[in-house]
Amino acid sequence: MPTKTSHRVIDQGLRDEVYVSLVRSLYADPRTLIVGSSGTVLAAFVTGFMTGHPAFYGCAFVLLALALVRAADVAQFRVAAKQIRDPREATRWEIRYTVFSSIYVFVLGLWSFLTFALQASPPVQLLAFSMTLANMIGVAGRNYGSRMLVMTQLSFAGVPLLAGLTLGGNSHYAIVACVLAPFLLSFKTIADKLRATLTTAVVSAKHERLLAARLEAALDNMAHGLCMFDQNGMLSLVNRRLPAIVGLPAGLAEPGRRIGRFLVRCRRAGLIGSTQLRSLVLAARLALRDHSEARLTTTLASGRILELTFRASGATGTVVVIEDITEQRQQEDTIRQLALYDPLTSLPNRSLLKAHLQSLIGEAGKSFAILFIDLDHFKKINDTLGHPCGDALLVEVARRLTALLDGASLIARLGGDEFVVVIPDVTDRARLEAITARVSASLLQPYEIEGNAIVSSASMGIAISPDDGRDPDIVIRNADLALYDAKSSGRACARFYDSSMIEVARARRIVELDLREALAQDQFELFYQPIVAIGTGRITSCEALLRWRHPERGIVAPGDFIGIAEEVGLITQIGCVVLDKACREAMLWPDSVSVAVNISAIHFRGDAIIEDVAGALGRSGLDGSRLVIELTESALMQDDAQALSILVRLREMGVRISLDDFGTGYSSLSYLQSFPLQKIKIDRSFVSGRRETQKDQTLLVGIARLCKELGLTVVAEGVETAEQLDNLAKMGAIDEVQGYLLARPQPTPLVRDLITAFAARSLTAKVERLPLRRGLR
Ligand code: C2E
Ligand code: CA
Ligand code: CA
Repeated sequence: MPTKTSHRVIDQGLRDEVYVSLVRSLYADPRTLIVGSSGTVLAAFVTGFMTGHPAFYGCAFVLLALALVRAADVAQFRVAAKQIRDPREATRWEIRYTVFSSIYVFVLGLWSFLTFALQASPPVQLLAFSMTLANMIGVAGRNYGSRMLVMTQLSFAGVPLLAGLTLGGNSHYAIVACVLAPFLLSFKTIADKLRATLTTAVVSAKHERLLAARLEAALDNMAHGLCMFDQNGMLSLVNRRLPAIVGLPAGLAEPGRRIGRFLVRCRRAGLIGSTQLRSLVLAARLALRDHSEARLTTTLASGRILELTFRASGATGTVVVIEDITEQRQQEDTIRQLALYDPLTSLPNRSLLKAHLQSLIGEAGKSFAILFIDLDHFKKINDTLGHPCGDALLVEVARRLTALLDGASLIARLGGDEFVVVIPDVTDRARLEAITARVSASLLQPYEIEGNAIVSSASMGIAISPDDGRDPDIVIRNADLALYDAKSSGRACARFYDSSMIEVARARRIVELDLREALAQDQFELFYQPIVAIGTGRITSCEALLRWRHPERGIVAPGDFIGIAEEVGLITQIGCVVLDKACREAMLWPDSVSVAVNISAIHFRGDAIIEDVAGALGRSGLDGSRLVIELTESALMQDDAQALSILVRLREMGVRISLDDFGTGYSSLSYLQSFPLQKIKIDRSFVSGRRETQKDQTLLVGIARLCKELGLTVVAEGVETAEQLDNLAKMGAIDEVQGYLLARPQPTPLVRDLITAFAARSLTAKVERLPLRRGLR
């Protein structure tokens, strides 16, 4: 909005401009001046000739001289005219003009006065009178621009003329003078009116120019293209942006062209196709007909996307605003892509999967199956080979799934290594089994990623809608439960959902909540089971075995909750509790007895295992050499370097490492060499008779001997019978034994008595003391 000051500036500027224009108008038409003064000078000479009076000749010569001076003045003005902008400059010219013309008209008036005063003949008088009058009319017609000029001229010519008429002695002439006086005055009014009209015209022309300039600036600086066409479909306005936006060749869009022609030319220029042409013409017609607003999006051959808004109003015609929405559309597409697709594999994400399921469920009677796929041990691959490798594997899995399944199936990635396949119209179990078998086989093919050959299996859970749920979330959850079941059943297999899985899941959830409560309420306690040296019969150490004193379920064995604690991320906290309690308890035992603590692979590979162990030792005051940490192979399998560095640091604290359940997992003998281990515990399946084939026994003997040779202490666990103990003793390679035969795991106060009792007797004697064997479980 313009301020008052800017208004004032414009007003002053405008006034100056009008004034300059008015001054210019004085000099505007030299022809009338030339014709008028030639006639007048000639008439003056004629009066001199007719009367022979020198006064008239004198007037004629003076008028001639003045006419020449005025002509010269006009000529000078025309030369200088272009530079005259300044009102002061204009005033100088106005004064010059006024002075010359006033003298000129005064001489005219004098001439007329003389014809009357000298009583010349009536024709002479008439000639001078009419010439003077004609000049005065000219004043109003030509010199109206200057009020000063009009006034001086009217008075300089009028006063002598009227004086001549009245003083000439002719009473009739006196009457003429009376009539003439108001007539002469009316010249002034006429001149004033003309001046006012000119002023208004100049002011409005100036205003229009200003408005037009502003409008043009606004239109040309718009981000959008704009054009207008009138009722006859004729382009009346096109802004500068329009040809640029549309990519029009120069000269195609110009005011005065027909809009229809213009569009046809656009099509010929290859900017739009025929269909677009039709819809544009239709939109234009509709807007024109209904005086309504029509909006249309069109894609040019160049790929740019334009949005056209046709807005018609009766008076001004139709305004078309053209906006280039290409970038906006691209951004929208990117946002949609990000919102609905997984950026790594470009597969639909959970949101899109849900929307797809919703639409399938919406189609009444449509059935479909969901295949929930999870790669087995993906985390291990990610940890060992690095995330870029893991990502490449996921991309390859996505590629294989896409190649394997037909277009009707939707494949989504839910995050991590979880994929979901939606197979429409299939409920037949046999067909689904065939599909899952193909998926499994395809995913089982070795992957070649960054030079690594990777073999990975997949577990799958299958849920079928509508039987297994009519809500996307429920069907996905049920497939997930079936997947969990597949994982629990040893992985690399597929399971169909059945309703009992919900119960399992619910129970798991309850256990999770209870475990948190157990930590808060200190419901965990440790039982201890002695490990006895086969040669001396002395207790070398006791293994701490976790028990959960549940307020309702009583004592819960670790097998029932350790797995869940690992899954829900509570195992590290539990491990710390165990370390603390075990170290404190061991402080109450003789120095010769160590304590063995089971540490989960997850805890072992976490960030804080060293601090946790050091903390427990520090708080209890137990010497590191009296702590044995039992690890299963899974703790050592993943990243050799990381595992090795942890083992080395534990060793530096004096802590010994015992490899638990040896013989059950991969049982790579390479562990024995590559890691600083002090003990191995041969799994009880070798001792208990579950593997009592000759081959197993031979293997057991072989491993035990090998370990002994490597300097490791060999422990046999799960010794339940005297016969087993006998066999182990005969083998010669076993250093220590553990099992129900010797003692069951004991709660804290009892284990201390047990240690004392063991110190007093020989091993055989102990074995024969049955009450001890029964112990407490
Ligand atoms: P494990 O480390 O192999 O522990 C030995 C298991 O065998 C114990 O079961 C013990 O009671 C049992 N056992 C001992 N002698 C005999 C025998 O002669 N015959 C038979 N059949 N079994 C015997 P428990 O206490 O139920 O522990 C089961 C597993 O739970 C342990 O196996 C260990 O892997 C895990 N666990 C126990 N305590 C902890 C703990 O504090 N932390 C972690 N992370 N895991 C623990
Ligand atoms: Ca153990
Ligand atoms: Ca074991």
